[in-house]
Amino acid sequence: MNKTIGIFGGGQLGRMMAQAALPLNIQCTFFEANTDCPAAVLGQVFSTQTQNGLAEFIQSADVFSLEFENTPLADVDVLTQSKAIHPPRQALAIAQNRLSEKTLFNELKIPVAPFKAVDSLESLTQAVAELGLPIVLKTATGGYDGKGQFVLREASQIEQAWAELGPAQSLIAESFVNFSREVSIIAVRGQNGDVKTWPLAENHHHHGILSHSIVPAPHSEDLQPVAQEYITRLLNHLDYVGVLTLELFVTEQGLFANEMAPRVHNSGHWSIEGSVCSQFENHVRAVAGLPLGSTEVIRPTVMVNIIGKHPKSEDVLALNGAHLHLYNKTEREGRKLGHITLMPIHQDDLTDLCRQLARILPEPLALTQDMTI
Ligand code: AMP
Repeated sequence: MNKTIGIFGGGQLGRMMAQAALPLNIQCTFFEANTDCPAAVLGQVFSTQTQNGLAEFIQSADVFSLEFENTPLADVDVLTQSKAIHPPRQALAIAQNRLSEKTLFNELKIPVAPFKAVDSLESLTQAVAELGLPIVLKTATGGYDGKGQFVLREASQIEQAWAELGPAQSLIAESFVNFSREVSIIAVRGQNGDVKTWPLAENHHHHGILSHSIVPAPHSEDLQPVAQEYITRLLNHLDYVGVLTLELFVTEQGLFANEMAPRVHNSGHWSIEGSVCSQFENHVRAVAGLPLGSTEVIRPTVMVNIIGKHPKSEDVLALNGAHLHLYNKTEREGRKLGHITLMPIHQDDLTDLCRQLARILPEPLALTQDMTI
């Protein structure tokens, strides 16, 4: 079995997919604007900027997938005239639009905050009247990491919110969810319909970017089966193949879905060392039509992102139980440059290891020296 998988996008997610594919003798190729991307060391990159780039990329592989959820549907449509893509186009189309996404969650009885479509100042005023305040106003397409959002706390902000996020865009107004924690569930579905789920990750953000994930999410025994049921509903409904992520809010009323990502996810990077089979390997297995591996946890882990500035590798590697992953990216404020998985032999050492790491990271994150897990 010597398949080649073509991946839309060539960032760190593509790089880690290709790393997982290598021992299975599966090659990867990539379709990306920047041919000097993080995945380039692991496979041929076809440029989105050249005229024949897409045609050559389609020629280069047997089956296709993606690491970039804003992969243009028009490119996928050209591809599917001759080759298959996993996950399916429908999942991608829905995930690219928050309104379709939330409508699907409603249809599948996955709880979401009440929401309204907004496309004018009048409809925003109407949404505020119907939903009450505060609300979170978001662009229906294109936003990520909290960009393209406005939290409306008072009616006097309506015009400002519309001026900032409207007028040309389709928006969604959502009731503000009073959550205690943010968690995510990642699952994989094979071509035969098998579904496997990893434990919930508890996610902490800093300036809207994921800072670290704790896995399994503490005190999540009751939440796990519920989240598992929700994501399984999505996977089966979409006849999905590959890895899917569902981001959820924990509230006093239970779990509320925020969004789904039709791909491997930053909150699943811990699984490279922390799970019997990682999200990357299981995604590759699913796309290639191979049996799925176990998603069991080897030991509890904390995954910490490296954002903006690199720590000294020597300092990280001197920590007992730290695994360093660098993406070969140049430093820039707010940019994800790599991650570190903390997985000490003794679980009791996890808090201490987090504190030691917080001391040597150059950028302040939500990870602090006085944290307790
Ligand atoms: P998103 O771009 O939808 O992932 O949102 C980015 C962040 O904004 C989330 O991780 C939450 O912290 C916050 N957020 C998004 N939607 C809501 C909401 N309806 N209520 C409260 N906070 C929200």
